[in-house]
Amino acid sequence: MRITAVREVAVPLKSSLRNAVFDFSEMTTSVVAVVTDVIRYGQPVTGYAFNSTGRYACGAQMRDRFIPRILKAPPESLLDAAGTNLDPAKILACMLQREKPGGHTERSVAIGTIEVACWDAVAKIEGKPLHASLAARYNGGKVLDRVPCYVGGGWYSPGKGLPELQDEIRKRLDEGYTTMKIKVGGATIPEDVQRVEAGIKAVGASDRLAVDANAGFDRTRALAYAKALAPFKLRWFEEPTDPLDYALLKDVVAVYDAPIGTGENLFSTQDVDNLIRFGGLRADRDIIQTDVPQSYGIAQFARTLEVMAGHGWQRTSVFPHGGNQMTLHIVGGFGLGGCEAYPDVFGAFAGFADDVKVENGFLKLPDRPGIGFEAQNALYAVMRGI
Ligand code: MG
Repeated sequence: MRITAVREVAVPLKSSLRNAVFDFSEMTTSVVAVVTDVIRYGQPVTGYAFNSTGRYACGAQMRDRFIPRILKAPPESLLDAAGTNLDPAKILACMLQREKPGGHTERSVAIGTIEVACWDAVAKIEGKPLHASLAARYNGGKVLDRVPCYVGGGWYSPGKGLPELQDEIRKRLDEGYTTMKIKVGGATIPEDVQRVEAGIKAVGASDRLAVDANAGFDRTRALAYAKALAPFKLRWFEEPTDPLDYALLKDVVAVYDAPIGTGENLFSTQDVDNLIRFGGLRADRDIIQTDVPQSYGIAQFARTLEVMAGHGWQRTSVFPHGGNQMTLHIVGGFGLGGCEAYPDVFGAFAGFADDVKVENGFLKLPDRPGIGFEAQNALYAVMRGI
């Protein structure tokens, strides 16, 4: 078998949202198709992925370096030992040839997106949902049927006050979510404290409300927010500092007893290792939020989990960034803490298969082969067209 083509296209996300730091008006994502010569249901098996949300499309790197390296490699050098399926770890190594260490995001998103598309093909060739293919390799064959899921939202928008925020939260509870994450840092501290109080009232308990500062604080504001929010004992306080400012994070952790979440803007195993070593994070409560397609993909993520385990961290401390079908399979396949959801937010790129429903804070894992983008009609229409 062989990979016959790798295609990519940049697609706008068309979102009018803003968090504490930036708006999404120019946001794009790269959609990738990895075509193989394996035939299933009368068609060549094609793996799909997109580069999650929050990082721009990166087609130039794919076209200039990573796709040509894959297509130039001897086909058998990219296959598993039996020679009957792709080996994503070998494809990752192939894409990393002649790449200098460090400077991860210049390539980690492009490589990770192609790698995840390869996994979609791997699982389709095996005839299994991706989470089951991953569980067989990375979780002792333990195939789960559902995973915890929380919902993100609580963005700032003109004219949106406390009653509107509470309405948004109640709507999510009615849909079946039990834990909600809202933005902080886009207002004054007293205003945000009021939003948190209103949010706790609507969701029903402080440990069912998380807040996300999107790495927008300087030292003074990070520490002031940490002190203001600590008494609420929220589910977690996300990205209180610049992702690489481990020293400041350590100081925030020292005044913030409840859980901290971070890591969606770190893109390598080394960065997560440094985060744990130098950021003062606590294995018994804090959470790490790697975005897998943006961080070299699934095979590299397995190495990140090994490094975390070496520091005494459990997999259930990982809640990956990206409320999408790829992340849902990764959470289920590795047995991670939970999945996020962003319904209605990033157009066709938000959410899961059209028939997936959240029930009492859990999502059922899909049973179609591969990632199952075919069951997300609007998104699959984009993917099929590339
Ligand atoms: Mg976040």
